Amino acid sequence: MTDPVNDVAANLAEIKARINKAAAAAGRPPGAARLIAVSKVQPVEKMDAALAAGHRLFGENRVQEAKAKFPAARERYPDIELHLIGPLQTNKVKEAVALFDVIQTLDRPRLAAALAEEGRKRGRLPRLFVEVNVGAEPQKAGIPPSDLPAFLEECRAVHGLSIDGLMCIPPADQDPTPHFALLCDLAKRHGLAEVSMGMSGDYEQAVAQGATFVRVGTAIFGTRIKPATHG
Ligand SMILES: *Cc1c(COP(=O)(O)O)cnc(C)c1O
Repeated sequence: MTDPVNDVAANLAEIKARINKAAAAAGRPPGAARLIAVSKVQPVEKMDAALAAGHRLFGENRVQEAKAKFPAARERYPDIELHLIGPLQTNKVKEAVALFDVIQTLDRPRLAAALAEEGRKRGRLPRLFVEVNVGAEPQKAGIPPSDLPAFLEECRAVHGLSIDGLMCIPPADQDPTPHFALLCDLAKRHGLAEVSMGMSGDYEQAVAQGATFVRVGTAIFGTRIKPATHG
């Protein structure tokens, strides 16, 4: 019989060890890449198991789901750091700004404008990463690499936003390594310190290329159970 709580702690320990090993092999210092535990659609007991094991860095891809889980968790663990890794609608900006420490999915001018407006009202904003559509896939969110310089300039000059990093989800059916290398190169060229890339199947490759954050769900918590549909 497996125990989900022990499994989560063991998985976290193993993945952190693999991350540090991949970083060392690439000549990067320990701690150069941090593990975001992606807790979306997982039972709260598994998130609690990660917290009990000392993990504090989490990613969620929906504002409503994060709002249902994290304010309560933060009462017990005030040092939680929460990243939004899913698409953000402009009508959820206010809630997202209140809830998240980092928004990784800034992907269009209207969202930049809405974030800037909310930042002026509140006097603060989460740290912001721009999502890059590294594979230039037509159906996928993110700024195409060729449009990135103009978009970053618009964020800074028009909206007064400071951007800390880039994130990507490479095409599912391709070797991710060249896409990871491209994202790191873009970050370097634009003087951006943070690079969020790599998931359960490829986080070691992402660390080897220079990820500062990897986003891992299934390998920590197990296969996600689809949520019941709601209306
Ligand atoms: C769900 C999700 C992940 C984690 O995926 P796993 O394959 O379960 O590790 C990472 N990044 C984003 C943007 C996601 O939506």
